Amino acid sequence: MKPAPFAYAAPRSVEEVVALLAEHGDQAKLLAGGQSLVPMLNFRLARPEVLIDLNRVPGLDGIRLDGGLLRIGAMTRQSTLERHAEVLARCPLLPAALHFIGHPPIRHRGTVGGSLAHADPAAELPAVLACLGGEVVAQSRRGERVIPAAELFVGLMTTALQPDEVMTEVRMRLPAPGAGWAVLEVARRHGDFALVGVVALLELGGEGAIREARLALFSVGPTPVRARAAEEALAGRRPTAEEFQRAAALVEEALDPDSDLHASAEYRREVGGVLARRALTQALARIPGREAR
Ligand SMILES: Cc1cc2nc3c(=O)[nH]c(=O)nc-3n(C[C@H](O)[C@H](O)[C@H](O)COP(=O)(O)OP(=O)(O)OC[C@H]3O[C@@H](n4cnc5c(N)ncnc54)[C@H](O)[C@@H]3O)c2cc1C
Repeated sequence: MKPAPFAYAAPRSVEEVVALLAEHGDQAKLLAGGQSLVPMLNFRLARPEVLIDLNRVPGLDGIRLDGGLLRIGAMTRQSTLERHAEVLARCPLLPAALHFIGHPPIRHRGTVGGSLAHADPAAELPAVLACLGGEVVAQSRRGERVIPAAELFVGLMTTALQPDEVMTEVRMRLPAPGAGWAVLEVARRHGDFALVGVVALLELGGEGAIREARLALFSVGPTPVRARAAEEALAGRRPTAEEFQRAAALVEEALDPDSDLHASAEYRREVGGVLARRALTQALARIPGREAR
């Protein structure tokens, strides 16, 4: 199918973008990498009157490490972030998660902001943002506001971004040096959307007990799901196989996924628990000198 007719705008500044958004509101759509939007246009699942192309707007891409914060321009290509040397060194879970997104040509076009704004429940980046405790910056004629990950994803493919807002920056808290991490998912083939996935971060304290565990699951509900009960149960405990098994049971208990064409709710719940346990085990093994006992 071909898209329904639309007008095309190629603004050259963020000011122009927000002016166009203020004028057209929900009749407009922003075009980033086009990897999700173009298929939606072709299937006529999206029928904007105006397409606002962000690809010629300077200053919307770039990667900066700012103290403990990773700042990523919304138009940064997924492949650029995946290969960034400092990101690989300081936050390896991010490139590992990006590697699961489709295939290289998709990641060459697809952007970080586009993936977060699209908010597919099976997407990796929203779960990374949830796990790292990130936030995004949104700009409109009304000014700039910061939206924390916990408030960004409000429902199935729905974010707190308003129709007159453009996401300009994504900020993620860098894990503490020496923290363990894992990104695991089950998909039919590499590059397919995940049937179930998990992003895990594990920090130990001086005594070897768990200082903080973070688990964000994806493709198990309309938005990324933080496994809060499991995280709380792990805090202060010794990182043993038994504790990880107990945490996995709490993850399974907390999940309330839907069944669809690809997997049943029962499958997703059970695999969610299994992946959480494996991710914690893998995260621990990545902490220098540690392995599950
Ligand atoms: C074959 C295939 C396989 C894929 N597999 C995966 C996968 O396994 N995992 C995964 O996560 N993704 C996957 N994707 C999707 C891909 O990662 C897209 O890149 C991503 O979902 C959207 O990013 P984009 O830059 O292409 O955004 P676009 O498609 O251009 O836009 C997507 C949506 O976000 C909005 N938007 C974009 N940028 C902004 C902004 N700065 N501010 C506000 N709104 C904005 C657009 O208006 C649109 O509604 C796959 C895509 C394909 C084609």
